[in-house]
Amino acid sequence: MPYISKIELRGFKSFGNTKVTIPLSKGLTAIVGPNGMGKSNIIDALCFVLGWMSAKTMRAERFSDLLFNGGNGSRPASFAEVSLHFDNSDGGLPINSKEVVITRQLHRDGKCTYRINKRRATREEIIDLLAAKMTCPGGYNFVLQGEVNRFFSMDPVERRKIIDDLAGVAEYDEKKQKSLNELQKVEANLANVGAVLAEISSQMENLREQMETAIHYKQLKREREQIRGILLQIRKEKCLGKIEQLKTKIASLTEEIEKQRNRYKKILEEKEKLNAKIEEISRSVDEKRSSDVLVVAERARAEINTLSDILKRTEERKSALDQEIESLSLQIKRLCDSKKTAAEETLESLLTKFDNTRSKFLDLYHSLNRCESLASAKALLKQIHETLNELSKIVERISASIGPQKIKQMELQQVNEDKLRGELAGLQRTRDELNKQVLELSRKIQEAQAKLKGADSQEKEIKSSIETLVAQRSSLREKLESLGKRERELEPKIRAMEGDLQRFQIQQDALANELREINNELKNVGESSLPENADPEALEKRAQEIEAELASLGERVNLRAIQDFRESERRYNEEKAKHDKLMAEKQSLLNFMAEIDEKKKQVFMKTFNEISKHFTQIFRELSPNGDAMLKLENEQSPFDGGLEIIARPEGSGTSYIGSLSGGQMALTALAFIFALQRYRPTTFYVLDEIDAHLDPKNRTRVAEMLRQFSRESQIVVVTLHDAVMSVADRLFGVTKENGISRIYAVELSNVEG
Ligand code: ATP
Ligand code: MG
Repeated sequence: MPYISKIELRGFKSFGNTKVTIPLSKGLTAIVGPNGMGKSNIIDALCFVLGWMSAKTMRAERFSDLLFNGGNGSRPASFAEVSLHFDNSDGGLPINSKEVVITRQLHRDGKCTYRINKRRATREEIIDLLAAKMTCPGGYNFVLQGEVNRFFSMDPVERRKIIDDLAGVAEYDEKKQKSLNELQKVEANLANVGAVLAEISSQMENLREQMETAIHYKQLKREREQIRGILLQIRKEKCLGKIEQLKTKIASLTEEIEKQRNRYKKILEEKEKLNAKIEEISRSVDEKRSSDVLVVAERARAEINTLSDILKRTEERKSALDQEIESLSLQIKRLCDSKKTAAEETLESLLTKFDNTRSKFLDLYHSLNRCESLASAKALLKQIHETLNELSKIVERISASIGPQKIKQMELQQVNEDKLRGELAGLQRTRDELNKQVLELSRKIQEAQAKLKGADSQEKEIKSSIETLVAQRSSLREKLESLGKRERELEPKIRAMEGDLQRFQIQQDALANELREINNELKNVGESSLPENADPEALEKRAQEIEAELASLGERVNLRAIQDFRESERRYNEEKAKHDKLMAEKQSLLNFMAEIDEKKKQVFMKTFNEISKHFTQIFRELSPNGDAMLKLENEQSPFDGGLEIIARPEGSGTSYIGSLSGGQMALTALAFIFALQRYRPTTFYVLDEIDAHLDPKNRTRVAEMLRQFSRESQIVVVTLHDAVMSVADRLFGVTKENGISRIYAVELSNVEG
């Protein structure tokens, strides 16, 4: 255990400017001397070097009052310095040095410097260094002069805090304070998070209805899209069905058209063949018709016709001529009749003859046309010729029968008659001429008929063959006509079918377009499976309802509300998670603090009970027939109350502290100090005149107690009494020379026990 081996002072209070050394050793050191010599100044020096901060505790008005003031004519100190030399042979102090020197220097300007082994240090370093082994300044191991009773004057709570310190509850307080600080932070965070949560909740409340509307709106739109998809699917199915039907129709129609076209083509081919045949036949017919034989026959026939016409006209002229001749003859007869000759009758008979012959001629002439052969014609012509000769003779005889009887009367008549006869002769000449012509014509006709006869059989053959060909051609033409009829029937039929086909193809194209559009729309909508028993009407109705509802929602919809709500919700959850975490932290801090409180109480109570036990025991030692105890004001909750010291010293009938004498109080206080020491021994005690108010018996008991304790701790005690001096291991006297305190060692043998 380290101990103070030396105190060095310079310029401190009454100790002057020269360095003063007070060698100390383990055990009990007593400082003695008359009043006012500077004993307590040594105690002040110890307090100073250990870092006390209040000048007053060191009995000075100001810090500068701690500096040597010059005394009786000496120079005041410019600085004060106190050093404590610790023997650290056992390494009790955590510095690798056998001696540890702690120094505090004070300058006039009030500045303080600390040193540990000459190295500049802070006050805290020094306190930390010594805290483990020496009670801190102001601790119970320092009992300044006249302060032995301070335990009684102090507040009970302050008194309890001495137990707190020894129990180390500060550690718990520190922990609790840390926890409290954390708790405050947590609560501040909780308040912040709570405010944020409240704000977000209010936002969410505002957004909820908008979000629900927006979700409903979106659902409606989705449903509308689904319905659109289903309706499109239905349309697609129908469209595909129609396309399939049209395909079938188009295929069968195409086949039918092909068939009918083939038929039509065959008809055309057949027609062509027939036309070719007909043409061939016509050519053949034409060829045959234009054959020489037919030409000859035709020409002969034409010639015969022409000649016959001429003949006819000639005969008609001749017949007219005959009538004229007859008329003239009649006139001439009448002229002759007027002559009333005998020859009249003859003339009459001649005229009758003439008439008969003429009739005969006319019959013959008319028969000529009915002649079937050239021979018969020739015979007829011969008869005609004979009849004409006969007529000519009759005419001559008629002319001859007319006599001169009426020449006179008839001179004029004669002239007329002559004239008539002249005319008649002319006519007769003409008629002769015509007869010749008739003959010539007949001859030519005969010639032509002869030619005709020569070509007759060939002509017949050719004509027969032409007839056969013509018949064939007619039959072919009939066929052609029939084919034409079929062609005419077939063509509009094919055209109608082609029209149908075109219409079907247009329909098919339109359906294909519709299908394309449907597929495009489906791509946008997204194909969905077609539900069974989909009812288009019901779906359309539902779509209309949705449309109406969407329209009614209209401008009220705020689609951002969903996102905003989700965002708020996400933030809320985040903040809620923070809140929960903070609540858990808070709870755990509260639990921890409760644990700390519990442990603190346990530790405190353990310490209290032990110290209380020591106190009673020591008090009984100091006051054998007395009794004392420590009492908590609040036993249930010790930290909510103070500590009471109850003592009934020997010979005292009361335990009320206030009623104790100064000595009894000092004895009780010492019992308390020793109880604390017993519980937690410290290395160093400073006690300034604790025995001042004690009677000799009690001083002896206290001295004995100090002696016992000095075995474990170093004790520096200021005393004016022999009892303590006699148990001291080392003794120093303090005097003054020229107002400056001087220290000298006192031989123990000079001290009476
Ligand atoms: P008592 O037995 O009465 O307690 P004491 O020996 O303890 O006496 P102290 O209180 O230590 O005496 O010393 C008091 C003396 O110290 C006084 O005479 C005082 O003048 C002197 N003193 C105090 N401060 C200074 C100072 N700054 N400079 C010089 N002397 C001083
Ligand atoms: Mg004193």
